Amino acid sequence: MLAEVIAIGDELTSGQRLDTNSQWISQRLGEAGIRVGYHTTVGDELEAGMTAFRTAVDRCDLVISTGGLGPTADDLTRDVLARVAGVDLLLDEAVLEHIRSLFARRGRPMPERNMVQAMFPRGSRVVPNPHGTAPGIDLEIPRPGRAACRVIALPGVPAELFEMWSAAVAPTLVQPQGRGRVICHRLIKCFGVGESELEAMLPDLIRRGRSPSVGITVSEATITLRITAAGSSVAECRAAMGPTEEIIHRALGDLVFGYEQDELEHAVLRLLYQTGATLATAEWGTAGTLAGWLGEAAEPGAYVGSVVVRNWPAAVAALGLPAEAALGAAASRETALSMAAACRKQFGADYALAVAAFPTVPDGHEPPERVHFAVAGPEGLRVDSALFAGHPAVLKPRAAKQALNFLRHLLLARLRSGRPEG
Ligand code: ATP
Ligand code: MG
Repeated sequence: MLAEVIAIGDELTSGQRLDTNSQWISQRLGEAGIRVGYHTTVGDELEAGMTAFRTAVDRCDLVISTGGLGPTADDLTRDVLARVAGVDLLLDEAVLEHIRSLFARRGRPMPERNMVQAMFPRGSRVVPNPHGTAPGIDLEIPRPGRAACRVIALPGVPAELFEMWSAAVAPTLVQPQGRGRVICHRLIKCFGVGESELEAMLPDLIRRGRSPSVGITVSEATITLRITAAGSSVAECRAAMGPTEEIIHRALGDLVFGYEQDELEHAVLRLLYQTGATLATAEWGTAGTLAGWLGEAAEPGAYVGSVVVRNWPAAVAALGLPAEAALGAAASRETALSMAAACRKQFGADYALAVAAFPTVPDGHEPPERVHFAVAGPEGLRVDSALFAGHPAVLKPRAAKQALNFLRHLLLARLRSGRPEG
């Protein structure tokens, strides 16, 4: 079965709002074992809407739409569906009562124009919307010489869409022939080598047609391996994925830092929690990227704070370095080391992570750039450097990730050496 998702609204086609509903719907369809072949986005216009639905009905067996079910003149989905199906709109008394009661609960009479939300194309099923005035429409559109296409129109308001999906759509999407297939994914997150290098470490795994399948994507140097399995139950899928996951762990070792939504800061924070240690950071050239990530991810305890500076005099002032610190104005291994040591002292933290990056390139456009990372900790001082080339937009997150990864390896080594935090 092939499905299409249609997102409706001028706010989407004009770029004022990002269509996240289509992403969500596609994820749910995937879990139900239904492949999505197309995403279409269309504005609040009758002709365009009809074209979009006609095209979708012709090429897919299931069409899910979102938006355009409101009471205003630009909400045209119900008219579009009636016209595409070649049927008229009928008033549903029960739905009208429900809409009236929603207004009554807010102590207001129902405006006349909301009546249109109780109109349904002849022959359609109502998809109840317990908390909103726009019920969904579930309609079979006949196709000459072929099985009918099922169209389900749902509201644009994400909370209503989610609720209606679980209560009244998902249970009806069982595949024909009684074969309820589910599709499960497992995401394994890696950092430390390039995409092709990592792929070469997994001979045969990322081959087309393998089952379970393994896909690889990269985002700002974080590599995600996605294992996908299909089966008759979630438990069956998980069992099928187990051996593949083991192969990945054996081949990649510490390149794997987490799962699903994990980022490097989560991995570092977990290691800090395990040892009961605290962390502070000092950033020069990464615009507080580490502070932002750690601040969002940390529960109270491990991460205590950051110093963010744009130049060496600011670092000297903020970190209480000796004024005569004649370390020069450029980022270097030495400046990173003295930032880390001073940061650890200033915050009284167990670990301090310092980044010193790209301060000398005014237009930010002359790769490669050298970035220095230093860690001050109970074991003393460690420093490392890396060269980056690439678009300026990715340099900051890449430098911040490299710094976190440097600390992650030091924490792993400490944990394995069996010395608990003193
Ligand atoms: P309905 O009346 O069917 O609930 P609508 O098109 O009338 O939908 P709007 O008033 O256009 O709804 O939008 C309601 C809210 O839902 C707005 O905040 C809108 O930005 C959001 N929304 C609509 N479509 C989407 C979408 N595809 N992805 C994410 N948010 C959406
Ligand atoms: Mg709309």
